[in-house]
Amino acid sequence: MTATPPTPPAVALAPHERARPMARDTVRPARDLCSDCGLCDSRWVAYVRRACAFLEQRFEAMEAAAHGRSRNLDDENELYFGVHQRMFTARLNRPIAGAQWTGIVSRIGVRALETGLVDAVLCVGQSPGDRFTPVPVLARTPEQVLAARVNKPTLSPNLAVLEQLPGSGIRRLLAIGVGCQIQALRAVQDTLPLDELYVLGLPCVDNVSRQGLQTFLESASRSPATVVHYEFMQDFRIHFRHEDGSEETVPFFGLDTPKLKDVFAPSCLSCFDYTNAGADLVVGYMGATFGRQWITVRNPRGQRLLDLVEEELDQAPVTSRGDRRQAVQQGIDAYDKALKLPRWLAEAVGWVVQRFGPAGLEYGRFSIDSHFTRNALWLRRHHPGIAERHIPSFARRIVSRYRLPST
Ligand code: FAD
Ligand code: SF4
Ligand code: SF4
Repeated sequence: MTATPPTPPAVALAPHERARPMARDTVRPARDLCSDCGLCDSRWVAYVRRACAFLEQRFEAMEAAAHGRSRNLDDENELYFGVHQRMFTARLNRPIAGAQWTGIVSRIGVRALETGLVDAVLCVGQSPGDRFTPVPVLARTPEQVLAARVNKPTLSPNLAVLEQLPGSGIRRLLAIGVGCQIQALRAVQDTLPLDELYVLGLPCVDNVSRQGLQTFLESASRSPATVVHYEFMQDFRIHFRHEDGSEETVPFFGLDTPKLKDVFAPSCLSCFDYTNAGADLVVGYMGATFGRQWITVRNPRGQRLLDLVEEELDQAPVTSRGDRRQAVQQGIDAYDKALKLPRWLAEAVGWVVQRFGPAGLEYGRFSIDSHFTRNALWLRRHHPGIAERHIPSFARRIVSRYRLPST
């Protein structure tokens, strides 16, 4: 990382890349595939050609630079979950009220500031008028980190706040973010005016624009206006929490697939960075049993972040149960036909799958297989010209294990 902000080089964009002013009137070279990661709202747009996750996939180089090596494709766990030195499940002994799960991410952010490891934490607050509209911030106090707890399940322009770094006095930063944001951040890391950068990643799939979220909530929840929190959980149900504290659960298999097929952002339908390959430490849930969080330590910097909270965690090893493969293949065929099951049948399928279906790491592989096959098919149908170079080698290997419908 350099000591001074870069002088952006001239950006040579092809004519088709210049075209599209979006919400904040900036150029989006990735056009419809743009995930609104925010880089183009900062002076680091100058590096967009090699930084944008949707213009060029650079997983191997990114992993090698961040972790000292790229993933071993012959190791099933690395093929699926990326480079790692440690993987386990955990809960905070004292969960943070209002966090997405038990709040391990926010607690690490708080401790990173309290111990002086960093000067600021890049995290995502909410708009005063709408809890689901993300507002990225450089939090300087534990209170600001805590105020940013809980997911804003919409595309968030996290990297726009890089623009605030020069002159801010921030030299050591902890960045929290999802895969596409971290890919772009890693690509410009060496040009940032920082001495230290720590990266705490979240796994991520199926993100949506704010409008897309509205369509989803109206289709899936009995009371879309009062939803404060939701998650697709390992019991194959979507759990909605409402303002009055009540919980509503809906089986995955009962979703209105014909209506929701196009609700996810095109960026997310072309994304293969589910497990956040470039982060030092990843905190999710899908590889853990229900109610616990899933921790992947990729490198010594990730362990350093974990050290901040490790004595506050109730830990357990990862486990795995079942065989996902048949369920994934059936899901591919059902999705392609856009089937909607009646509620009673969806409940029955959910009941069986929850008791006898994949759990723990096998649930993680189920979810990865389902999303990678769907996304490979979507790319081949909607962007055949870029599909093969856009699908990274680890995803191609996973997708090749299944029979995909013709394009
Ligand atoms: P908290 O302590 O509540 O902290 C949540 C953190 O998320 C905050 O620091 C905030 O800055 C950050 N954040 C909020 N919204 C966004 C956003 N839009 N973009 C970037 N950062 C944001 N885990 C899985 O295992 N499988 C998934 O499929 C999955 N999908 C996700 C999709 C999205 C859009 C997001 C944001 C997260 C997803 N996660 C997924 C991660 C998971 O839901 C939890 O966020 C994670 O386990 C941390 O829980 P926590 O209680 O420690 O978080
Ligand atoms: Fe720019 Fe990010 Fe969109 Fe790519 S994804 S075009 S880097 S804002
Ligand atoms: Fe970014 Fe992928 Fe998440 Fe979409 S699914 S927001 S592209 S990391």
